[in-house]
Amino acid sequence: MNVHAMGRVFIQFSLRAVTGLHIGGRGGGIEIGGVDNPVIRDPLTNQPFVPGSSLKGKMRALTEKHHALPLNWRINKSWIHVCEDASSYRSCPVCRVFGTPGEKDFGTPTRVLVRDLALTSDSARQLDGLSLDRPYTEIKTEVAIDRVTSAANPRSLERIPAGAVFGPGEIVYTVYDAEGGSCDPAQDVAMLGVVFQAMQLLEHDYLGGSGSRGSGKVAFQGIEVQVRAGGDYFRTSKSVGTFATLGDLMAKEGDVLAGVRAALGLPGDGGAGRTP
Ligand SMILES: [Zn+2]
Repeated sequence: MNVHAMGRVFIQFSLRAVTGLHIGGRGGGIEIGGVDNPVIRDPLTNQPFVPGSSLKGKMRALTEKHHALPLNWRINKSWIHVCEDASSYRSCPVCRVFGTPGEKDFGTPTRVLVRDLALTSDSARQLDGLSLDRPYTEIKTEVAIDRVTSAANPRSLERIPAGAVFGPGEIVYTVYDAEGGSCDPAQDVAMLGVVFQAMQLLEHDYLGGSGSRGSGKVAFQGIEVQVRAGGDYFRTSKSVGTFATLGDLMAKEGDVLAGVRAALGLPGDGGAGRTP
């Protein structure tokens, strides 16, 4: 079987912290003056960033829950869903889009990759100008009450303040084609809808830690969808649409998918290949 990448869809955006955002970094309290729960920082700039793996992992987990898929595969301390066989893989919104562990190879590589997001230079400058608890961040103290002894246990959480913007962010989605028809590029394009849905589910949920206590609400903004394909792959990318918000994109999802199909040289939908 000869699988080839027919083209790539680039979803570019910025991500705004609507509430304070905590994406945990390495161990706390060890460094002098360290906080209990530090955020992850870029060691070169010392600025907080959003790891692409956090964004992708959360989008995957929310998609697994949305489709009520069984969590049958253990990775470190958490369980994820992984298809057991090739026939379920073919129509699986999670494994086809977000990939499978190396031990489970169904013949096509992962379609989605999500890049790390740095603070925008505007946001970095703004946060730099504020008198914050730590560089670019605030410390939120939460009090947990012990239900047996009623003792208060204060714990501190480092957060990126609400309003901070990260970007440019990028999700790259590869559309595959294979001799013998084991990959269906039209179905790949339809499954791009799974990525948009996962972005929507994330806006309805939270990113990082302490979400049930108010942290981690995020919003996608300034979204552009572009396609590179065929003989023009290295020369030019074709814009399929720009959207102020994810809601604007979702309202035009059908047009976006049609635009992607056209840019890839695929025939119109004709009712086939719906988002599952
Ligand atoms: Zn699956």
